Amino acid sequence: MSIVRVRFAPSPTGHIHVGNVRTALFNYLFAKNQNGTFILRIEDTDLERSSIENENIIYEDLMWLGLEWDEGPVVGGNYGPYKQTERTLIYKKYLDKLLEEKKAYYCFCSKEELDAQREKNLQEGKNPIYSGKCKNIPLAEARQRIEQGEKAAIRFNVTESEVKVKDILKGEIDFPTNMFGDFIIVRPDGTPVYNFVVVVDDALMKITHVIRGDDHLNNTPKQILIYKALGFELPEFAHIPMILGSDHSKLSKRHGDTSVNQFRQKGYLPEAFFNYLALLGWSHPEEKEILSRQELINAFSLERISKSAAVFDFDKLNWMNGIYIREKNIDELYSVAKGFIKCVELSKYDEQWLKNVVFSVREKISVLSEIDEHIKIFFKQSEPDDESIKLLNLETSSAVLERYAEEIKKFETLTVDDYKAITKIVGDATGAKGKALFMVLRIALTGQRTGPDMDKIATLLSPKTQIERINNVLRFIKK
Ligand code: GLU
Repeated sequence: MSIVRVRFAPSPTGHIHVGNVRTALFNYLFAKNQNGTFILRIEDTDLERSSIENENIIYEDLMWLGLEWDEGPVVGGNYGPYKQTERTLIYKKYLDKLLEEKKAYYCFCSKEELDAQREKNLQEGKNPIYSGKCKNIPLAEARQRIEQGEKAAIRFNVTESEVKVKDILKGEIDFPTNMFGDFIIVRPDGTPVYNFVVVVDDALMKITHVIRGDDHLNNTPKQILIYKALGFELPEFAHIPMILGSDHSKLSKRHGDTSVNQFRQKGYLPEAFFNYLALLGWSHPEEKEILSRQELINAFSLERISKSAAVFDFDKLNWMNGIYIREKNIDELYSVAKGFIKCVELSKYDEQWLKNVVFSVREKISVLSEIDEHIKIFFKQSEPDDESIKLLNLETSSAVLERYAEEIKKFETLTVDDYKAITKIVGDATGAKGKALFMVLRIALTGQRTGPDMDKIATLLSPKTQIERINNVLRFIKK
């Protein structure tokens, strides 16, 4: 058995989409499970749409998710360069070989000519494929014409009538070659196309398994023809079904966030996102759902990838992220959450107190960007709404608040036990209980009817602050 070598080959034409990163993740899990090598290759032949900024975001996003590549840009390796724009001479060598062996030919047909031919074919009910007009131009003559300034594409000379694609997930599929005819491998402007460069790269980088989205399935027969023409050994193929949105159409912006970067900015934890993506179209043999990176690596197999498309479930991702948030200890949580706190200037507060504040709301949040919404009560009293005002206007409310303020006056800080004892005293003295006691206190201290547990609020806010807030409310009630 050869050593497994797999690759993720993004084009830096935009941010990485969840579908692509899931492909990267399956490649990574497979490589690690097999003690193989995970390679990153940047497919930047589309010069107009590719950019260094996008390329850097790809690196950042992959690193954020912990999908570290064993070979590729930045880290290097024995089969580089790992960016297609740096491999031009390599491609030229293989193109010359195909041209000289008449497995490819120069095509001088103009766009107008090709369009007209295409139109004619369609009208006659034929496949709109290339006629083969330039196939027999001798190579020497073609080269001369190019030297004299003519522009030409290079087409692959398809001689077989059918190509069999063997796919680990989809089984064997026959593709008649009259679906595509003599396809272009180099554009008239001289840039080689994906189907050609991908084969040269995968073969020279000794890729054993090509694992990619099934939107590429139709490209695979063309690629197989090129492998054969160049005498390269075929890798194994696994085409992974797409990811769909809740309405079962292809996942797109309409459904919500789709780029890894957006998920990162919203405050999903990389380990939760990793876990969620792994289960998007793959399942654990025992149907376990919360799985560490190592557990996923150990359990991963290509055979367990689902044959049907996976539906992206934002609720499930949020649920899972919440679980990972709650698994963090106080220091870990603060270190990942502090970058998301925008409602206050952190340097103005004691760090341990901030940690306690963040930790107190961890049950309430599913993504870190929600943190501000929940911790703002610790920094500022908000205005009660109508429903809250009704509660503040209960007969016992003033007495509850006055007595509570009186009781906490003597404390520097409150413990949970202090808070419990004090509320008991206040309840006994005023006859208020349930909502009339606890909800009234909550509204007075925070302005809201929901939030972290009251004992947390009472222990985190200084008695001085609590008294100030209560006095504000009392003035408001008595107006
Ligand atoms: N650059 C291609 C893409 O991003 C790679 C496809 C492949 O894995 O062969 O879709």
